[in-house]
Amino acid sequence: MDIGLLSVSMNVYSTKRIAEEAEKLGHYIERIDHTKCVVKLGKGKPQIFYLGENITNEFDAVIPRIGTKVTRHGAAIVKQFEMNGIFSTARSLSITRARNKVRTLQIMARKGIPIPETLFAINPDNISEQIEILGGAPVIIKLQEGTQGLGVILAETQKSAKSIIDTFYKMDTSILIQEYIEESNGEDIRIFVVGNKIVASMKRSSEVGEFRSNVHRGGNTEVIKPSPKEQQIALNATKHIGLGVAGVDLIRSKKGPLLIEVNASPGLQGIEAATGVNIAKEIILYVERNGRRRRK
Ligand code: ADP
Ligand code: GLU
Repeated sequence: MDIGLLSVSMNVYSTKRIAEEAEKLGHYIERIDHTKCVVKLGKGKPQIFYLGENITNEFDAVIPRIGTKVTRHGAAIVKQFEMNGIFSTARSLSITRARNKVRTLQIMARKGIPIPETLFAINPDNISEQIEILGGAPVIIKLQEGTQGLGVILAETQKSAKSIIDTFYKMDTSILIQEYIEESNGEDIRIFVVGNKIVASMKRSSEVGEFRSNVHRGGNTEVIKPSPKEQQIALNATKHIGLGVAGVDLIRSKKGPLLIEVNASPGLQGIEAATGVNIAKEIILYVERNGRRRRK
């Protein structure tokens, strides 16, 4: 097959691994820097140009690895491929949903998937009331578009919560306020889903003095087998967001597992190293099962 790998950087571990496994399995894979793609709309079929070449019909499938800074443009490029009937491991709509924490949590809540109690507001006039609705401090304050643990703040007192929230509102920064799950103990579970199947899972633990367990924040990893309930949540969350490949993050609470995030371009490095699973290969096998087949 001819596969387009939509990524800004070919030098990151995840894209390198995906390209490597695609080639091992006999496919042609080309890296497309989607920020350099040009989209043409108008009469006839929508078209995509890359470095002066029309690539609208070049690929049998695309694998988007869309960075956080270019989500909108990336999603538009993926949509353009979809409009031409090309299979994508992540649909445009799903990428946009996953990137937006409020949107993700709304979908989860509607589908009955357990999440931490979360509040979303922009009104600076009644912040105390907002914190009270969540049961008071401590609370977690998250930038809506944050990633890798950056933009996740633990406010331990009502006073600090108020001033942090007030600052963000006045800066017009979209945030959400969440109950702090203290018993999650700085640990979270990352479940990697490929095509309705769990291919790998790990537990990430934070460093001492840190509540965020992201690998990028210096967390440690360990292989685990998620409970049946956790497996169900991960598979359902991925299905409801509509992703073919997803990294689902859960935390363990007294109320049971809670979903905190669904990543549309989950990193492979931490989880391949922790579990020894060849996830890049799983992704290519999934593409083989779904991409267009044609003879050259
Ligand atoms: P990001 O998208 O930046 O990774 P997350 O929402 O996944 O943000 O949060 C980062 C980390 O912070 C999580 O992996 C988890 O360890 C911790 N965390 C997030 N939400 C909560 C919460 N409500 N209670 C306790 N810890 C949390
Ligand atoms: N998205 C990041 C990457 O592609 C990794 C995010 C994470 O798993 O913490 O490397």
